[in-house]
Amino acid sequence: MRISELFYSLQGEGKRTGVPSFFIRTNFCNLKCMFKSGNLCDTPYTSWNPDDENNLGELSVEKIIEEYLKSGAVDAVITGGEPAVQKEELEILCSGLKKLGAYVTIETNGTLISGFINHTDLISISPKLSTSVPYGTEYEKAHSQNRINPDVLISYEENHRKGLFDIQWKFVVCGEEDIAEIKELQKEIGFTDSSVYLMPEGINRDEIRMNGIAVAELCRKYGYNYTGRLHIELWGGKRGV
Ligand code: SF4
Repeated sequence: MRISELFYSLQGEGKRTGVPSFFIRTNFCNLKCMFKSGNLCDTPYTSWNPDDENNLGELSVEKIIEEYLKSGAVDAVITGGEPAVQKEELEILCSGLKKLGAYVTIETNGTLISGFINHTDLISISPKLSTSVPYGTEYEKAHSQNRINPDVLISYEENHRKGLFDIQWKFVVCGEEDIAEIKELQKEIGFTDSSVYLMPEGINRDEIRMNGIAVAELCRKYGYNYTGRLHIELWGGKRGV
């Protein structure tokens, strides 16, 4: 698999915040987020400028599982980039981890779905709102066309309702204008308020704290959950934590 980094840390976002977790960060993404603030994606080394073979490069599923076992963690978080881009390998990895008793979380932008969903515990979907469009760049058109795939999102929600996995819908929020878009999507896909987490946009402590207050107020007003970014609060915007 094309891997950007493997590390042991605490889950920083969503309902499992604070749980010790082994992170498997896959390389490459099919989107290119650039937020209203001008910030790029928080892991540009997996999307805008993917790590090359001088970093981890290609790793076998066996090697990844070996590193997971060494960490001693129960939780395995497969994140990116976009993990679902590598669909065959992802299914083999999830199935291997589940056989070892891991609690498997997949963090995805929700544009792709495949057989890996049969071997996961939690799918954390982060659909990209219009405030993520990289206006004025070569990626503007492709990102705008591909960022929301309603059929895929509906399939995630339906499989969750069948009991296949737990689900959370996590939105990077830049301001109150994002709420109408979230509500529109909610109407179309049918996910519940209690499965929604709003997260302040920001890639360092100051930005998260500054934007966090406004997002917390939006959570109180609209009845959604708040999630911060614990790893940034604790360690700043560093890699590998
Ligand atoms: S979908 Fe995620 S990994 Fe891909 S560019 Fe956007 S924030 Fe980065």
